[in-house]
Amino acid sequence: MLRTHNCGELRQADINKNVTLCGWVHKIRDKGGMIWIDIRDRYGITQLVFDESKTSSEILNIARSLGREYVIQTSGVVLMRYAKNDKIPTGEIEINVEKIEILNASKVPPFTIEDETDGGEELRMKYRYLDIRRNPVRKSLELRHKMLQHTRKYLDLQSFTEVETPFLIKSTPEGARDFVVPSRVNKGEFYALPQSPQTFKQLLMVAGLDRYFQIVKCFRDEDLRADRQPEFTQIDCEMSFITRDDILNTFEGLIKHLFEKVLKYDLGDIQKMSYDYAMEFYGNDKPDTRFEMLFVELNDVAKGKGFKVFDDAETIVGICAKNCAGYSRKQLDALTEFVKIPQVGAKGLVYVKYNEGGTFKSSVDKFYSQEDLKTIASEADAKPGDLLLILSGEKSPTRSALSELRLKMGADLGLKDSTIFKALWVLDFPLLEWDDESKRFHAMHHPFTSPNPKDLDLFDTNPGAVKANAYDLVINGVEIGGGSIRIHNKELQQKMFNALGFTKEESKKQFGFLMDAFEFGTPPHGGIAFGFDRLCAMFGGSDSIRDYIAFPKNNSGRDVMIDSPSTISIDQLDELGISLSE
Ligand code: ASP
Repeated sequence: MLRTHNCGELRQADINKNVTLCGWVHKIRDKGGMIWIDIRDRYGITQLVFDESKTSSEILNIARSLGREYVIQTSGVVLMRYAKNDKIPTGEIEINVEKIEILNASKVPPFTIEDETDGGEELRMKYRYLDIRRNPVRKSLELRHKMLQHTRKYLDLQSFTEVETPFLIKSTPEGARDFVVPSRVNKGEFYALPQSPQTFKQLLMVAGLDRYFQIVKCFRDEDLRADRQPEFTQIDCEMSFITRDDILNTFEGLIKHLFEKVLKYDLGDIQKMSYDYAMEFYGNDKPDTRFEMLFVELNDVAKGKGFKVFDDAETIVGICAKNCAGYSRKQLDALTEFVKIPQVGAKGLVYVKYNEGGTFKSSVDKFYSQEDLKTIASEADAKPGDLLLILSGEKSPTRSALSELRLKMGADLGLKDSTIFKALWVLDFPLLEWDDESKRFHAMHHPFTSPNPKDLDLFDTNPGAVKANAYDLVINGVEIGGGSIRIHNKELQQKMFNALGFTKEESKKQFGFLMDAFEFGTPPHGGIAFGFDRLCAMFGGSDSIRDYIAFPKNNSGRDVMIDSPSTISIDQLDELGISLSE
């Protein structure tokens, strides 16, 4: 080895030892008679000292020729430091340099390699290998590594087999667009990169593997949104001969194990909530349950008082913000502005203050008497000191807007405590979702999800009302994972394809292999997949998954470091049989 120790491990107990270190030049202080250089590696920083009265001029010359990020190898004796630095673990010692060699020079880095850097996002991504030299980025990758190891350990102990499924496949319909790869040897034909290994993991159940997992890259060519990556990682799992609750228990175990091992956090029992309940009381299928502020329908008490906006509305729905009756005009105006931004989309906001003295003040006092406001307040279970915030309009957009307002209020009131994790299973999703544009049903989860056995009769009469045997794991308002019990019967699978508007021929062409497999003794099975990048970000206390991916793409789906995507040569195109029209 080129070193005897790393740059983070020498302590007082090592004093007088002869050591050799390797690393990057982090900082240089030249005070004439003395030079101090901090040498850095992944493990820490150690101070090197060059004393003009003791060190040869040859060594001093080398020291003076160094620049930031030069790679050096140095040997010397460990000394006790006079001015100790209690901010770093090696702060008690320094190395009196007796030998130094430049292993490699470095250009001046385009940004400082410090916890707080002066480099902007784009620049850091272009030189991501320098960015990763910084502690916070390296620590994020180390956290990810830990999560990977604990996931594997847990699933291995539960008898899951890790299997790699192919990346060059045929499209899996998960609702997004596929990335496609042209085939040179089969001109005019294309592979698709998997949006998930869904059909393969089901086939592994047909194959009798019983319990499968894979920590796997998935590819979805979706429209770009902040913090979406075209390639991302899932913990993908499937089990045979299980019920829904077996899956929930097994993966509650995995998630609790990760919280315990990585964060030393006891997640407690994971609550179960139906999709219908989540939508009714949170306006959202991934509710943040760190705080309540549940929705209240106010149609019965707010209509018929001459306020046209409410009278004409399909729905009037509110939330009660505890102890907020003291909100100023300015604060209320800001909330009104917030609900009107396009991403929230409400037309206006009505407030009712339940004053401490028992009186009411509202933005609709012209239409509502104190008695009327009291009825509204009591419907919402408001107490003196509380503030009601009410939206009205068409049902679905109004409820989504109120959900946004609820989350904003939660944030404003400090109720979204980042040290608390509240997990829940959301259950009983609708199986199908009507799409107005294509005028047909789409699978809410994917076409292999089994309907709730109780609802099978509804399939022919009222498909929109059929519930799915599907589940999502939500933590602090973020969807962390989702899955379902699968259809394992050919006829039911065909029925599902029919409901989705596939003809027999189309479904045979796309999924014939799965339907064929279903004829060879398919066990009842089900599974789940977790968004691994998002899980890492949550564990690291960050909103950005990019921080937890070594080489992420930017918001336009570009890798600015390797400059991809890029054009390819005419020769390559010819070879692939692809001609680009102007
Ligand atoms: N393949 C699904 C997904 O990627 C997960 C599952 O149903 O297991 O969302």
